[in-house]
Amino acid sequence: MTQMSVYLGSAKKNAFFMKKLGLGFFLFVPLAIFAVAALLHQEPENTDVSDNSSTTSVLSVVEAQRPKTCEERQDGQPSASLKGHDVWKYLCAHKEDVYTVSSGDTFAKLLSERGLSSSQAHEASQAVRRLWDTRELKVGQDVHFLYSLEGKAALKGLYLLSDPTHLVLLKRTGQDFTADLISVPSTTTMVYKESRITSSLFDAANQSGVPTNILIDMIRAFSYDVDFQREVKEGNTFSVFYETVQDNNKKVLSSRNIAYASMRLNDRFLRIYAHKTKDGSTVFYFRDGSSTRKALLKTPVDGVRISSTFGMRMHPILGYSKMHKGIDFAAPRGTPIRAAGNGRVVYMGRFGAYGNYLKIKHNDTFATAYAHIHNFPKGMRVGQTVKQGQLVAFIGTTGRSTGPHLHYEILKNGAQVNPQSVKLPTSEKLSSAEMKRFRQTVAKVEMQMAAQGKMDTAQLVQNR
Ligand SMILES: [Zn+2]
Repeated sequence: MTQMSVYLGSAKKNAFFMKKLGLGFFLFVPLAIFAVAALLHQEPENTDVSDNSSTTSVLSVVEAQRPKTCEERQDGQPSASLKGHDVWKYLCAHKEDVYTVSSGDTFAKLLSERGLSSSQAHEASQAVRRLWDTRELKVGQDVHFLYSLEGKAALKGLYLLSDPTHLVLLKRTGQDFTADLISVPSTTTMVYKESRITSSLFDAANQSGVPTNILIDMIRAFSYDVDFQREVKEGNTFSVFYETVQDNNKKVLSSRNIAYASMRLNDRFLRIYAHKTKDGSTVFYFRDGSSTRKALLKTPVDGVRISSTFGMRMHPILGYSKMHKGIDFAAPRGTPIRAAGNGRVVYMGRFGAYGNYLKIKHNDTFATAYAHIHNFPKGMRVGQTVKQGQLVAFIGTTGRSTGPHLHYEILKNGAQVNPQSVKLPTSEKLSSAEMKRFRQTVAKVEMQMAAQGKMDTAQLVQNR
């Protein structure tokens, strides 16, 4: 019987085809053709199938969403080459051998190791490269090599996931190689997660199943307003409503596009909504239509690293005072420091007790300073312009410092001011026409959440 292994994407946890589904997944297109026959006869006649043992799973797959045809697809791929071509039938007609890419492998090397001459390997690579950059082959990624059902004599082709919802199929016909990009049948679902913080924001996200990339996006969106070092406390809650792409087996292929997020902190409740403005950019706004974007970030550090443990807070995390005219963020050495706002680097280098020090001038009024830096990313220099959120340095403990942390200062007209209370220039407001559209965005998202019966409980309290 044919060994059909799980297809794992570049990330192992994004397992893509379930093992138990096995060959069945690739059978359902040809089988859809036989679906009527399957209802009439218990066992559809299917000469392409090497393993007919699991009629039940095959039927359940047939019932599941069928893959999109070329005509139904929005992305224009894989073009005319697939029209009328039954790729699934092709896969079913082959045996496969799954190889997990390890360090040092290249696409051409994998082909050579399976008996292709260097010119054949080159031709095959060229065919694939038109659809996918073979240099993107990643360690841990699975490549499915195809052989004829009779034996393993000669390589007949291969396929791999080029992204969570597409696979590249390389086929060999005699000495010729052709490649196709195949859309993986998937559905998009909105998911709501709500969590109470017990040990740390990171742990809470983990326990409630919020993917790390969603947590990162959420923290970034709140980084203008929330001081993740001092403000997030035990008992606080957060919620996030985002999109997941799932295969027919409900396996999540990817998570993306936060539509709504909230944070219930000790003394305030923040709700942000993603809104696509007329110019096409997606920006987070508070419910009243004010942008979350501020001139300066309140947490100018990778918030996930700060949020990963309260243990880091054993280090004295100082607030602003007459003696200490800055705010400290404790995080492991090497944690990225991000430019608090758009500006220009006016100082970088040793600066007394500050150790390695960076100063960014944002406008005529405001500048920010970053101290005890471990080192700077390559290419950073005085005079260069930086964008808000851009990586500008790494946390260290240089100068007069007792452990790895960032000492962050906001300077207004040259004097340090309290970052926690400084009044920053107001963020852009929506125009009245855009505001009208934003109200619709809010209504739609809140309805979607309510429809799931999973309205943010903090929000319910707020709306009462
Ligand atoms: Zn400090």
